[in-house]
Amino acid sequence: MPLFAQLKTPLTGEYTQPTGLFINNEWVEGVDKKTFDVINPATEEVITQVCEATEKDVDIAVAAARKAFNGPWRTSTTPLQRGVYLTKLADLLEKNLDLLAAVESLDNGKSITMARGDVTAVANCIRYYGGWADKIEGKTIDINPESFHYTRHEPVGVCGQIIPWNFPLLMLAWKVGPALATGNTVVLKSAEQTPLSALLFAGLAKEAGFPPGVLNIISGLGRIAGAAMSAHMDIDKIAFTGSTAVGRTIMKAAAASNLKKVTLELGGKSPNIVFDDADIEQAISWVNFGIYFNHGQCCCAGSRVYVQEGIYDKFIEAFKKRALANNVGDPFDENTFQGPQVSKMQYDRIMGYIEEGKKEGATVAVGGERHGDKGYFIKPTIFTDVTSKMKIMQEEIFGPVVAVAKFKTEEEVIAMGNDSAYGLAAAVHTTNITTAIRVSNELRAGTVWVNSYNLLSHALPFGGFGESGIGRELGEEALYNYTETKSVSIRLAGPIF
Ligand code: ADP
Repeated sequence: MPLFAQLKTPLTGEYTQPTGLFINNEWVEGVDKKTFDVINPATEEVITQVCEATEKDVDIAVAAARKAFNGPWRTSTTPLQRGVYLTKLADLLEKNLDLLAAVESLDNGKSITMARGDVTAVANCIRYYGGWADKIEGKTIDINPESFHYTRHEPVGVCGQIIPWNFPLLMLAWKVGPALATGNTVVLKSAEQTPLSALLFAGLAKEAGFPPGVLNIISGLGRIAGAAMSAHMDIDKIAFTGSTAVGRTIMKAAAASNLKKVTLELGGKSPNIVFDDADIEQAISWVNFGIYFNHGQCCCAGSRVYVQEGIYDKFIEAFKKRALANNVGDPFDENTFQGPQVSKMQYDRIMGYIEEGKKEGATVAVGGERHGDKGYFIKPTIFTDVTSKMKIMQEEIFGPVVAVAKFKTEEEVIAMGNDSAYGLAAAVHTTNITTAIRVSNELRAGTVWVNSYNLLSHALPFGGFGESGIGRELGEEALYNYTETKSVSIRLAGPIF
């Protein structure tokens, strides 16, 4: 199997795509020489094949990461130097923005304008964590005059990272940034649906100067390579973003093996609440963006919309018009807002939920069917008259499908909003600041947006309450998920026991 392929994107023309496993700063085939197909979701055609990592390759990658962790990376590379590598990588990501965005669109199907936004956010995130690298500080803790105490935040060790396909590069940056800033080494597995951009990222990391073994990136299947990572005895921490079902499996495997530390960023069914006094035009824009951004393939998608009774009818009419105006089509068209779903499997799952919603008696206000006859496109879909017990109000659909319900009082909508096992995000639309703060405080969610939606920042912690996960990514908080605190206690005087 060749380790590179000559591919083409409609935007940037020909380019060289690495297809091997990236271990120890080298491109290698898997031990079993397996490969899998990479599919373009807009055309359903095969783009290329990439090497598939099996358990044996996970062992090799972990050994490389362990060796690097035990070498100069930990013993003599200064924190400042780690920051320089990350900053240089951010520069290279920016320099290659057009190619990275085009490959992301090709492989994932996201619109090119959104893909450019993703890559910009990726570079910002890596640059931000580059800035943190030499600011990982402990404390001195004054206990008594007979001793001196301080804490250090040391790297956890070899970190296994498993990411999903909805934001292939961004999810990688959220994990790799804080892990490398704090001096860990990494084995990252991309999602099998979208391996291409991660391999380009690996090449740029090598160019930025990271020593061999510090960052290893493999393509592989969840149930094989992902499972091997979760159960590995020499991985010290596993960070996962994906479905709640797989999150549970990973946590079990971590518990049954070496009790590696676990952080999980899982599913959501986030409430988006519109009060009578909201600026209705703005609220409709944010509700539309909240559910249809990235084709509804966001863990924090605003997939449950609650509208107060005074504006309900007006809101629904205007929202329908807005959803119908979203451009669905070729990801490489600059005017496209919504591309295809990532895979046939996701397409079938979403269409299954749409059929379920119809059967359960909800009303299809717009959409509810396939768009076109090639590619995994689904029309933006609004269900109204949705009750709290319906599957489409309870389960994560992960597609361009929103469930809308009416509410009367603030108290009632807080209960409706919190009626979920998840707790990733929520939003409140109102012009009354007191309502905004009161309701934000009551909602059980890791992020609450007021008069907006989906506005994430590398500096703001992100993660979930309840079954939406464990731990936080981004911001300063992410650093603590990648460090172990060591307390050092020095005796100066006093009794000897
Ligand atoms: P989705 O259902 O959205 O595809 P998944 O949770 O299945 O999300 O996948 C997210 C990531 O988890 C992918 O990288 C996938 O390969 C990986 N994965 C899937 N199953 C397992 C598993 N049993 N153990 C570890 N990783 C897995």
